[in-house]
Amino acid sequence: MRSKIVAGNWKMNKNAAETEALLTELAAKLPDTNAQVMVAPTFVNLAGAVRSLESSVIQVIAQNMHFAESGAYTGEISADMLLGIGVETVILGHSERRAYFKEDDAILAQKVKAALDKNMKVMFCFGEELEDRKSGNHFNVVESQLKNALFSLDASAWSSIILAYEPVWAIGTGETASPEQAQEMHAFIRKTITDAYDASIAGNVSILYGGSVKPANAKEIFGKPDVDGGLIGGASLKADDFVAIIEAI
Ligand code: PEP
Repeated sequence: MRSKIVAGNWKMNKNAAETEALLTELAAKLPDTNAQVMVAPTFVNLAGAVRSLESSVIQVIAQNMHFAESGAYTGEISADMLLGIGVETVILGHSERRAYFKEDDAILAQKVKAALDKNMKVMFCFGEELEDRKSGNHFNVVESQLKNALFSLDASAWSSIILAYEPVWAIGTGETASPEQAQEMHAFIRKTITDAYDASIAGNVSILYGGSVKPANAKEIFGKPDVDGGLIGGASLKADDFVAIIEAI
């Protein structure tokens, strides 16, 4: 059975005091839910967030990590460093990492492998650009992103993978994929995984939708059968909005 998940990607927002304040508010307002709730503060606030949420079910996850174990990689963070502060899940492949930091499929494949080798869970993000959708190439792009970064994994690794389909044209733009567009792509992703592995792996992996999810549209998107939750950017920075999105699931 796959899990329902709502995750907040805080990106490069919130200093230490603001992080603490938002987490306190979130923990206090968290509704009763069967969904897993996750937040991804910046690296410097991860350890504090883990401490603040010690008695909460909200999980703290990282926005990125490096593929190397350790070494001369100035400014980077390893899997062991995350595990050492109690962070067991990492977002990899976010479109902003791909676009601004030139993380391509080959780098992401290394990062995924490094995280899984350390028994971390990976929330793998992928999705097409606007031109791909306009030219009708979106299914091919998504298929190749999955294939290049994930399809050489052993079948057993898939229990540690969460997918987040995030059409780039919908991230931070206010433009959302329609619930039908999201469902169509999520069903395609499941079929692609069925073809590469089998129906059980495809049926058990959680596939989140990300891209301008807000309280006003969350319920309709989450209502689609192949959408298992959301990766939320902007709307996860306000406790009331994030809570409303959690309630929608
Ligand atoms: C994201 O960055 O993963 C995201 C979905 O952002 P937003 O919700 O702001 O579009």
